[in-house]
Amino acid sequence: MIETQYSLGQQVWNVRTSETTQKETCPDCNGERFLILTLGNGDTHSIKCDECGPGYQESTGYLIRHIPTVYPVPMIVVGVEVNKKNEVQYRVQEEFGHEGSYYLQQEDSLFGTEEACRAKIAELDAAEKEREANHYKNKVNRNKSWNANAAYHRRAIKKATEDIAYHTKCLNYAAGKVKFEKKESTDALVTETEG
Ligand SMILES: [Zn+2]
Repeated sequence: MIETQYSLGQQVWNVRTSETTQKETCPDCNGERFLILTLGNGDTHSIKCDECGPGYQESTGYLIRHIPTVYPVPMIVVGVEVNKKNEVQYRVQEEFGHEGSYYLQQEDSLFGTEEACRAKIAELDAAEKEREANHYKNKVNRNKSWNANAAYHRRAIKKATEDIAYHTKCLNYAAGKVKFEKKESTDALVTETEG
């Protein structure tokens, strides 16, 4: 017999997250979808905004912000099961929810008290704040990569221009090297009469 942390009929707490989405004007390009980059030599380029169009995606000029709401929900344990991996799973039902709708939860996602559940929410909240701070840090790094992107495109254009010049030359190899001379058809006639 496996010992379980919670028992049938017990009230437990579960972290619930709901999310709303909100469209926001891109803070980097201000909805313009491009950025103007001025290089040290004074050249300016308009480059795609990577904040609202990451990677190969087209810039949209806006960001979709996911706003999570995290809160504790009281549950009642209505079933205790052990799965094939010998892990304890709880069949729980919302205390004030519809009867008949169950959720299967692992032991570590349930809490014996509301306080313990709120402590977990505070922990998740701190992790989310850190994630946001890291996003900002990455953005600072990306300012550098915008310069790198512009340099990359300039190199690619230079290479492509050289390639076009080379391939054009290959297709006009004869120009300036071999002279096509059109033989006059009258030549033969002239020779004959001379003999
Ligand atoms: Zn943008």
